[in-house]
Amino acid sequence: MNHTDDKKKIVLVGAGLVGMSFAYALLSAHICEELGIIDIDHRRAEGEAMDLSHGLAFSGGNMLIYAADYSACKDADLVVICAGVPQKGGETRIDLLHNNSKVFDEIVGKVVASGFDGIFLVATNPVDIMTRLTMEKSGFPAERVIGTGTTLDTARLRYLLGSYFEVDPRNIHAYVMGEHGDSEFVPWSQAFVGTKNVLSICDGSADHSREQLDDIASQVKGAAYKIIEAKRATYYGIGMALLRIARAILSNEGSVLTVSAYLQGEYGQRGVYAGVPCVIGREGIRRIMELDLTADENEKMAASCHFLKSVMSQLYESTDK
Ligand code: NAD
Repeated sequence: MNHTDDKKKIVLVGAGLVGMSFAYALLSAHICEELGIIDIDHRRAEGEAMDLSHGLAFSGGNMLIYAADYSACKDADLVVICAGVPQKGGETRIDLLHNNSKVFDEIVGKVVASGFDGIFLVATNPVDIMTRLTMEKSGFPAERVIGTGTTLDTARLRYLLGSYFEVDPRNIHAYVMGEHGDSEFVPWSQAFVGTKNVLSICDGSADHSREQLDDIASQVKGAAYKIIEAKRATYYGIGMALLRIARAILSNEGSVLTVSAYLQGEYGQRGVYAGVPCVIGREGIRRIMELDLTADENEKMAASCHFLKSVMSQLYESTDK
């Protein structure tokens, strides 16, 4: 952590659509005083820093924004990694793994070599695997290596449930858990409108049904594919999710967010990063919350973690060769 003064500093690695959506959201969020932008295409980072800086006069706050090199990470509080190859139409997130793993060898190595002692926040897909690789390559403690996990999926779920029940999404308490990808699931036993469980609302209701809830979960799962088909990439939603997590860390909020966290026995899982509700504060992941899942939900969690572990094994095998 940057203990030298109260100024908060973020270094963003990857000035593409996701990284810059986050950076743009930062402009009016006033959560840090300094933003360094690193990209393999340094000229692009310079152009982005200039363009963003010109918005500052209208943002109601000030911030030092510049194209950086890795030495800027030394006193940063947070390094946010959005670098990589974006998902193309028809491609699964797992297909991206091999390319992005090589990119991370270079990036994480350089960040650590700078003397960085803050928190890593990873958005690059497949995010649960990339976060695990970041922990391994950096040697940082797990609580300081965080993935965006299912925060975006959870936001999509709350938005859709809010429309369905005609309630402000801020009063919907529901999570998507597991892999940020096809094996993710919604534990409906833990989904509430206000303090009323959604299953009990649907029970015997003429207006709401369990089938429609399942349809909403499918829509959440398919959202990225649908957006990518329509506009080739998703970035505003994840930009806001990154901002939400960064704020929770830098402002020491203690907020509950479904980030990708390293499980060490929670939910009966060990040695795997997956999206679970966590309490997030200045130290990173303050605590992983263990919800009282039903047996069926626990099975879904186990299947999702099993899938993520098998991907890691495939990666280890292919890099051994
Ligand atoms: P993009 O192609 O627009 O941007 C990627 C950037 O990374 C480019 O500017 C590129 O120059 C840079 N880059 C590549 N290699 C680099 C290296 N070695 N060092 C530094 N910079 C490097 O892609 P995007 O649309 O911004 O997506 C970025 C990542 O975010 C993808 O992996 C995508 O799948 C992921 N994503 C994650 C979520 C989520 O929920 N976690 C949501 C959307 C997208």
